[in-house]
Amino acid sequence: MLQADVAIVGAGAAGLSLAHRLAGPGSGGGGPSVALVDAPPGPLRPPRRTWCFWEAGPGRFDAAVTASWRHLRVRDPSDTVIDGDIAPLRYKMIRSDDFEHLVDRDLADREDVRRVEGTVDTVEDVPGGAVVRLRDRAGHARAVRARWVFDSRPPGSLPAARTTLLQHFHGWFVRTARPVFDPATAELMDFRTPQPADGLSFGYVLPLGRHDALVEYTEFSPRPLTSDAYDAAVRHYTEHVLRLGDLEVLSTETGVIPMTDAV
Ligand SMILES: Cc1cc2nc3c(=O)[nH]c(=O)nc-3n(C[C@H](O)[C@H](O)[C@H](O)COP(=O)(O)OP(=O)(O)OC[C@H]3O[C@@H](n4cnc5c(N)ncnc54)[C@H](O)[C@@H]3O)c2cc1C
Repeated sequence: MLQADVAIVGAGAAGLSLAHRLAGPGSGGGGPSVALVDAPPGPLRPPRRTWCFWEAGPGRFDAAVTASWRHLRVRDPSDTVIDGDIAPLRYKMIRSDDFEHLVDRDLADREDVRRVEGTVDTVEDVPGGAVVRLRDRAGHARAVRARWVFDSRPPGSLPAARTTLLQHFHGWFVRTARPVFDPATAELMDFRTPQPADGLSFGYVLPLGRHDALVEYTEFSPRPLTSDAYDAAVRHYTEHVLRLGDLEVLSTETGVIPMTDAV
């Protein structure tokens, strides 16, 4: 049985961040040994996605940042604009692929970090720690014993709550024929989108250059849309609200994130 001080189940945003902090640059020598367990390629692995977050000054993942903005804009339904300079913060964009490569690179020569591929079935408390039970690609049972286990597998169902809305969105990475974007400013919320009956919606524009941007349609409402409805919403936003003109869709992303007061 593989033994480690810390077993991390799931190599997504949380698991990779934790592994990087425990064993990456700046963690010093003599840190805990880490077993990082992730599901094999397949349905349990999340698709590629783009993360944005606020940060003041340099951050430990800056080498993976695609773009960042100091200026943010919000528009109300009648196109009244609020511009903000968020210094000393910046709003930073990282693509999940670039983040994974950065963590792979920084942990590559750490002998105290072991990568384990397998589908975790259970995490059991045992005296002095816990045992992670998994199956490898061939279906063979394996186990990792650790003093501490951080389990980031998504919950099968959401806990009970007074409020559960979904933040659900669909985005296009676009390249336009005309230079239509202002690369200095991210449009955080543009409420000129048609509003749903049982929630709210807004557009979101993250410019990567004069011709390139991630453009998204977002709703906070009880249910996701169909893929046709998302496409229609982004098309309406790009054609009739932003009036971007001719454009090419380079790639897309979709997300459904629960917004809840559950513990
Ligand atoms: C398109 C999109 C855009 C987003 N944009 C933002 C954003 O801009 N800012 C932001 O803060 N958040 C954003 N989010 C939300 C963010 O992605 C999640 O909050 C975050 O990924 C959660 O991190 P996590 O590590 O808990 O889960 P994940 O990143 O989903 O990682 C879970 C890991 O667990 C592994 N796993 C699952 N089941 C098993 C199993 N049985 N055995 C072994 N491993 C398993 C998976 O392979 C995966 O590696 C976005 C989400 C999406 C989908």
